[in-house]
Amino acid sequence: MKLTILGYYGGYPDHGVGTSAYLVESGDYRLLMDCGSGALLALEAVCDPRSLDAVLLTHYHHDHAADLGVLQYYYQLHSGAKKVLPLPVYGHTKDPLNFAALTFGDFTRGVGYTADATLTLGPLTLTFLETQHPVPAFAVRIEEAGTGRVLVNTSDTRAFPELAGFAKGADLLMADTNFLAEHPAPMWHLTSTQAGQLAKDAGAAALLLTHLPQESDLAQLQREAQAAAGSVLVTLASTEKVINI
Ligand SMILES: [Zn+2]
Ligand SMILES: [Zn+2]
Repeated sequence: MKLTILGYYGGYPDHGVGTSAYLVESGDYRLLMDCGSGALLALEAVCDPRSLDAVLLTHYHHDHAADLGVLQYYYQLHSGAKKVLPLPVYGHTKDPLNFAALTFGDFTRGVGYTADATLTLGPLTLTFLETQHPVPAFAVRIEEAGTGRVLVNTSDTRAFPELAGFAKGADLLMADTNFLAEHPAPMWHLTSTQAGQLAKDAGAAALLLTHLPQESDLAQLQREAQAAAGSVLVTLASTEKVINI
């Protein structure tokens, strides 16, 4: 399984880097996980956007879904054969208005998931955990058939006990690490220390800090997370990086 980081900021894009968007590949299967601001341009740089097999949205905040509209227009207007038509766009069903917008003509089709769903997308099996966030949001656990390798994405969330069990044994844990260790409440994202502790508690092999802040010292964020994570290898998200899981 291969992870390409297309955008990693929380909230808004900054200096040429977009918000949450990740390409997950297994063999020739391509899943776009979240579709934040700048996702389509970043995707075009690594593959033909028409070659996607599916899109998954963890929630409907703009920094995770802003480019879905233009991706839909791309599927409508761009010439050439599409690999899948309509392109399935998986989203939760707790917000009917946003869920309805996942379907666009014959080009994209919204497919609902719930907390207890198990989705089989090509070689990938997805399960979910509802997180604690101001709007409904879902962490996702992706297991690759054949290898059994596991990628877990916390999506946006504050810390809560069930996360560690959900992320148990992940080969790579992607954690919403939007805050330095000292951050005043209310907190709807993890701090560096909480992300590190989560990776340690889950027994993850590696921790990727993502959904990063624009105005904090990222070296400090990484140091704090590493201090809490013990022997778990901690890295910062980067668009330069393709990660083999
Ligand atoms: Zn976000
Ligand atoms: Zn959010």
